[in-house]
Amino acid sequence: MTEQPLLKVDNLQLSYKVYGGSLSVLNGINLVVRPGEKVGLVGETGCGKTSAMKAILRILPAPPAQITGGHIHFKGQDVLQMSPKALQGVRGNGISMIFQDPTAALNPVFTIGQQLNAVIKYSASNRNKAAKRQIRQAAISALSEVSLADPERLLNAYPVQLSGGMRQRVCIAMALAAQPELLLADEPGTALDVTIQDQVLRLLRNLVEEKNTSVILITHTLGVVRQATDRVYVMYAGDMIESAPTSMLFANPRHPYTQGLMEAVPRLNGGGVAEGIPGRIPDYRNPPTGCRFHPRCPRVMSICRREKPSGYPVDDGHEVACFLFDGQHKP
Ligand code: SF4
Repeated sequence: MTEQPLLKVDNLQLSYKVYGGSLSVLNGINLVVRPGEKVGLVGETGCGKTSAMKAILRILPAPPAQITGGHIHFKGQDVLQMSPKALQGVRGNGISMIFQDPTAALNPVFTIGQQLNAVIKYSASNRNKAAKRQIRQAAISALSEVSLADPERLLNAYPVQLSGGMRQRVCIAMALAAQPELLLADEPGTALDVTIQDQVLRLLRNLVEEKNTSVILITHTLGVVRQATDRVYVMYAGDMIESAPTSMLFANPRHPYTQGLMEAVPRLNGGGVAEGIPGRIPDYRNPPTGCRFHPRCPRVMSICRREKPSGYPVDDGHEVACFLFDGQHKP
């Protein structure tokens, strides 16, 4: 019997209303996360990764955001149909999120303790009321878990008194304090320098492994995806264009865009200068017809300009949204 997915996103469409029209930023994406699974989500800046995560948590301001179609099921329940109260039950204990910029994610006028206590109290109130002393104890252990020294003193500190790496660790502690079943980690090291980024990512990886938390990890660093995930989704301009088990995708990327992404990684073995992908992400006010990648694709065919490709299976668990794999064209 197939295990029920923890999260299932079907044909999700999202647009932002802007002056003089709307931006179609999610063009019908599909995504599945199984219990305990670590999933990577990669793609260029502006391809819709963060919007997709925020749509799953339903934290996008509406307007301008508008979900125009599709479904998001968490443990079999449609998140898009949930009442505000039911949604509160999902946020925190069910799904929590680590945001890209820890400085913006923390409120500068509250201490770390106040912010952490609020998260713990909120998640505890979904079960039983926790006593003040228990909450403080839970906050101290949450900070210790992310390897922050002197957690008792840190409870009284304000975000501005912490370094960037410490703030990101606090954000991880807050996201994990409610013991979520699914963690959405949105480029959790991007705002940090590379050595701290590496420490933070290792820490996060160990913690989710220990707690068997399911994860969607958004990152630009393909090396991180390779090490930290079981499966990968590749997004381009609001479309999910390829998905596969991580080792399969790295061994044999099929979509021309994924191949371009892999070739854009600098080679340290003297194997030549990395190639970029010519062109840029399209204007969402007027995206290209058919396959949104067609203006940049080296393999473009006439059908690509007219029709949107659906996902074609190419291997066990490997799917590619490209007409080269529809069985009628030559890959
Ligand atoms: Fe290129 Fe066509 Fe495939 Fe799109 S569908 S990636 S344009 S070959």
